[in-house]
Amino acid sequence: MNVMPAPHTTIRAADAYISVSGVSKTFHGRKGAVHALTDINLNVKPGEFVSVLGPSGCGKSTLMMLIAGLMSVSSGRITVGKKHIDAPNSDAGVVFQQDVLLEWRSALQNIMIQAEIRKSDLGEARERAKQLLKMVSLQGFEDSYPKELSGGMRQRVSICRALLHRPPLLLMDEPFGALDAMTRDQLQIDLLRLCADSGVTVLFITHSIAEAIFLSDRVVVMSPRPGRIEQIMEIDLPRPRRLAMREDPKFNQYTRELTKIFQGLGVFREEY
Ligand code: ADP
Ligand code: MG
Repeated sequence: MNVMPAPHTTIRAADAYISVSGVSKTFHGRKGAVHALTDINLNVKPGEFVSVLGPSGCGKSTLMMLIAGLMSVSSGRITVGKKHIDAPNSDAGVVFQQDVLLEWRSALQNIMIQAEIRKSDLGEARERAKQLLKMVSLQGFEDSYPKELSGGMRQRVSICRALLHRPPLLLMDEPFGALDAMTRDQLQIDLLRLCADSGVTVLFITHSIAEAIFLSDRVVVMSPRPGRIEQIMEIDLPRPRRLAMREDPKFNQYTRELTKIFQGLGVFREEY
């Protein structure tokens, strides 16, 4: 069985929903210039689940902020759905590592913020919010306040809020990074279920090799600073994904390949 991944998997710009072309980002701070990203080229197909994997400080969050339109590029061009991104992309749903729930609002009310800001039909949004909560096993917690919820439950509410308006794009920056391992496993499954249901395109930032493989259609491997795309690996595992697939020989092969790439980049130092 040949499970060697394709070293450079490319999607044509014409077929792309997200297109990042020749993008660099330099920050000018107190300590001088920081080249966070250099010549990033990436095309993501509609409905694709793409993870951006790399060590801390390699520019993952910067890339996401640029695609969200929350920061501007130093050079290059980004389009989402053929629209040039030069301002915040309000179509996108965004989830960060720290949930940003309002403590004085219940779970349902926190999700409804999305509809209130967008001035959507509130009755319809409420029904959808309840349905989303049910899909992540939070039925019965509609009226609970964030302080009454566990970390995993809070992050589920954040994801429901990001998906309420049926965004075509979901941007997630290490959304499960602060959760314990078992909660993380469950949230990964919950996320895949929600994505399968909605056909949303997902850009998922992580520094977990296993998480990237488990979730993704393709994994974008970033090198340490200045952040560059080292390789793009296609993950040829069937969907729906099941936790048992993590023992699949193919899964292990991907893990080995990715570990090897990061070893080659000097990310892991093993002597002690
Ligand atoms: P990652 O998310 O992969 O950990 P970041 O995108 O947050 O990395 O950061 C990439 C690099 O850019 C880091 O060296 C970081 O210090 C720098 N950086 C990020 N944001 C800013 C900023 N607003 N001003 C100056 N430097 C920044
Ligand atoms: Mg980050």
